[in-house]
Amino acid sequence: MADWSRRRFLRTGAVATAGSLSACQTWTIGGAARARVVVVGGGFAGATAAKFIRCYDPTIDVTLIEPKSAYITCPASNWTLAGLLKPARLLVDYRDLVDRYQVRLIGDRVAAIDADRRKLVLADGDSLRYDRLVLAPGIDFDWQAIAGYDAEMAERFPHAWQAGPQTELLIRQIQALPDGGRVLICAPPDPYRCPPGPYERASLIAFWLKQHKPNAKVVILDPKPSFSKQKLFESGWRRYFGYGTPAASIEWLSIANNPVVRLEAAGRAVVTDFGDRFTGDVLNIIPPQRAGRIAAQAGLTDAGGWCPVDPWTSRSRFNEFIHVIGDAADYAPIPKSAFAANSEAKVCARAVVDLLNGCPPPEPHWLNTCYSLIAPDHGISVAMVYRLNAGRIAPVPGAGGVSADSPAAVALEAGYAVAAYRNLRKDSFE
Ligand SMILES: Cc1cc2nc3c(=O)[nH]c(=O)nc-3n(C[C@H](O)[C@H](O)[C@H](O)COP(=O)(O)OP(=O)(O)OC[C@H]3O[C@@H](n4cnc5c(N)ncnc54)[C@H](O)[C@@H]3O)c2cc1C
Repeated sequence: MADWSRRRFLRTGAVATAGSLSACQTWTIGGAARARVVVVGGGFAGATAAKFIRCYDPTIDVTLIEPKSAYITCPASNWTLAGLLKPARLLVDYRDLVDRYQVRLIGDRVAAIDADRRKLVLADGDSLRYDRLVLAPGIDFDWQAIAGYDAEMAERFPHAWQAGPQTELLIRQIQALPDGGRVLICAPPDPYRCPPGPYERASLIAFWLKQHKPNAKVVILDPKPSFSKQKLFESGWRRYFGYGTPAASIEWLSIANNPVVRLEAAGRAVVTDFGDRFTGDVLNIIPPQRAGRIAAQAGLTDAGGWCPVDPWTSRSRFNEFIHVIGDAADYAPIPKSAFAANSEAKVCARAVVDLLNGCPPPEPHWLNTCYSLIAPDHGISVAMVYRLNAGRIAPVPGAGGVSADSPAAVALEAGYAVAAYRNLRKDSFE
């Protein structure tokens, strides 16, 4: 491990475990009893957990299992729709986790978890054992929710809610839109990954259309009565896109209690529960979500489709040796974001290390910040600190809120959005 990271480990460890290290049993390097932690999923949650477990206790053997050789970040993926960033810039690889933090990387998918034997089976048939498992598989989609819309149909009507080829498909479709055409974004119901995401997406598509197809428009069809940072978004939309006027290039339609239930592919239309029909030249359908498939297969999800956890330790409510973090887990009221996944992963890393060393993990706190761009020079944000209150996660009063809505503030926030993205990537993967 590089010198700086050893110093960082010593510093962070000193803060996080003040008063408890001397009481801990430690696992010896090279000894037979070296603890084995396996992390499933190399997104913001899994990568951060793998890195910080190694930083907190370099004697622990950490294996990260992720089928992709490079990860494509969803954060900043909306920016590519406005041409502000090339899709290739979203790529981040696992080199630093391996070289700098000595995380062992297996490029495969976990096919099954045998929780009773604390064993994993990989898609290629190999298996491996763990003392503790950190599960961070992100989201899966509820393909039953919208009749006619499944994984295959998503290749024609992209959700682009897992960044990658779908994002690029959406870019191509928007570029091919006729002037005077209409992009229909079907937002998902709560809870879902990145609550402000659909509205940032609408803003940046509208921004691009304004330059290239000024008569085209974006319509957001929303199964919710309100949405994250709504006042700030609407203020920006009024400023740039004539929001609320007949000439508006962004329209938001709430269809609360009347969700989209059917896709009519031939007519490029979606139909709601009450039979209302909406059409678009480009359909960006973001379906309802739940925990990544492997979590459900392992019996770690509840009736809502997410993984309930004990927030203090991040342990699954259904298995004491499995910790679940990131979008797959239920940390409500913390939203499902990369920033939150990074924060949950650090709490989890601390708990995993302390539990393996026979120490009580310290009381956790979590952070979340979500930045959105409405235009290249117009950023907005929401932030919050969370702690436990009577065993449940609760916002710390007065510790967050939304950004100011003044020309000076939104210009500064645009710069912060870019810096926050770079810093988060670095903190999770480098
Ligand atoms: C358009 C958009 C914009 C966003 N913008 C922001 C933003 O600005 N800021 C922010 O904080 N958040 C943002 N988010 C949210 C953010 O992307 C997610 O909250 C974050 O990626 C969650 O991290 P995760 O590690 O839980 O899941 P993921 O990032 O999805 O990672 C899960 C990983 O697990 C792997 N995996 C799944 N199953 C298996 C298996 N069986 N075996 C092995 N590996 C497996 C997958 O390959 C994947 O790499 C945005 C999301 C979207 C869609």
